[in-house]
Amino acid sequence: MRPLDKLYIGGKWVAPSSSKSIDVINPATEQAFLSMACANETDVDAAVAAARAAFPIWSQTPAAERKRILLAVADEMDNRLEDLIDATVSCVGIPRHQAFDFQVGSPIDAVRYYAGLCGIVDEVHEENNVIIMREPIGVCTLINPWNYPFMQLIGKVAPALAAGCTVVAKPAEQTPLLDVIVAEIFDKAGLPAGVFNLVLGIGAEIGNHMCSHPDVDMVSFTGSTGAGIKVAQAAAPSVKRVCQELGGKSAFIITEDADFEAAVRFGTENVILMGGQTCDALTRMLVPASRYEEAVTIAKRVTQEQVIGDPLDDKSTIGPLASMMHRERVLNYINIGIEEGARLVTGGPDRPEGLDIGAYVKPTIFADVTSDMRIASEEIFGPVLSIMKYETVDEAINMANDSEFGLSSAVWAKDKVEALKIAKKMQAGQCFIQGGYFTINAPFGGYKQSGNGREWAEHGLEEYLETKAIISG
Ligand code: NAD
Repeated sequence: MRPLDKLYIGGKWVAPSSSKSIDVINPATEQAFLSMACANETDVDAAVAAARAAFPIWSQTPAAERKRILLAVADEMDNRLEDLIDATVSCVGIPRHQAFDFQVGSPIDAVRYYAGLCGIVDEVHEENNVIIMREPIGVCTLINPWNYPFMQLIGKVAPALAAGCTVVAKPAEQTPLLDVIVAEIFDKAGLPAGVFNLVLGIGAEIGNHMCSHPDVDMVSFTGSTGAGIKVAQAAAPSVKRVCQELGGKSAFIITEDADFEAAVRFGTENVILMGGQTCDALTRMLVPASRYEEAVTIAKRVTQEQVIGDPLDDKSTIGPLASMMHRERVLNYINIGIEEGARLVTGGPDRPEGLDIGAYVKPTIFADVTSDMRIASEEIFGPVLSIMKYETVDEAINMANDSEFGLSSAVWAKDKVEALKIAKKMQAGQCFIQGGYFTINAPFGGYKQSGNGREWAEHGLEEYLETKAIISG
């Protein structure tokens, strides 16, 4: 079992102040394969101090030099590709053959993309007697969940460093290995000491301190809405900026004249990807009553095509969920759906055949789901699709927007023109039309309780900037 017994602070691997550690479990084997050191508040103080000391240097480093270093980081990521893929598979259970496409490839592209944006802080807008410029906000705490560990870290750290900020990052307890590899990569690529600091630890123990710390200027948090609220509360007394990327219960409207085979396949595969542990998964499929059973039949067929199994087997299209604890949570929701009277079309709470060990859950489809059911409103974060019925498109839009969340959404209509009309009415940070999907070139973030920040694209970098106006007399 590999020990992750050091924190990366001030450009050095240092032992934490406490001897506490926890095991990290491979969800496919249920075996511990790492032990992770747990930082305490003293370690957080050291990491913040290192980031604070490095800020004047890094923020004044010319954009061309920051760009050079970020490009060297991306090259080193290419060199460590197999390690990044192996770590992702062991930590989150995604089938290995899917890991590059859905977890590892685009973050490396993103590092190169943000390297190209380093010069943004040198842009000055001058009109009449007003000069407007932007500056890096300062020291940033970055806290991430476990579902896309590499992508979520890069979605924060690459724009932060491109902007000239320094950071203290904390991964989820289940997935520290990706962050350790990234720290090794930064070290090898020559990132100056203190610009990137890594603390490993338990969110409930050190999260509050990381967010309330007086020397931290901004917190970027991705995770559950419940933890996001605690983060904002901890940050509020010091009035620091808080960028929250939280949960979702995204709706997908399919219209009567859409290509049903393509649309239902798209929606069903979307929920099955990564075992449904994707914050923007389209877990509510809204289908016209006139073609309801057709949609249910297609979704059932697509689900039953899936091969659940060992992430190392090329035939597997769906691996285990990320942990046994999370499996229990998802199974509980499947049982709630049955108790609420939804029609179980396929899947269910039983273990998939032949998989007696591992956090496996059968991809599950519920039909006849109504808005008052918990499975229609609460985030399950598993491979569970609720198919709901509507009479008119206006009713479908109301159903889609009748949610405390607003992270993502999708529409499949007769054509792009018709889909766009509906997309404009969806209360969500993103809307995929006619089979569009995630790209780092589009800003990503939530309306309502799905959050208040934006990641990716240029908007993701702007979160890390302050605006300054200089007015002459
Ligand atoms: P979580 O909220 O339990 O944990 C996320 C992170 O927060 C972890 O690093 C954890 O240690 C830390 N944490 C926990 N309590 C904290 C506290 N009081 N203060 C500071 N940090 C604390 O979430 P999870 O179970 O790891 O992830 C799943 C959730 O993340 C889902 O709700 C999902 O929708 C959401 N998510 C959102 C996005 C997005 O971009 N909107 C992306 C991925 C996941």
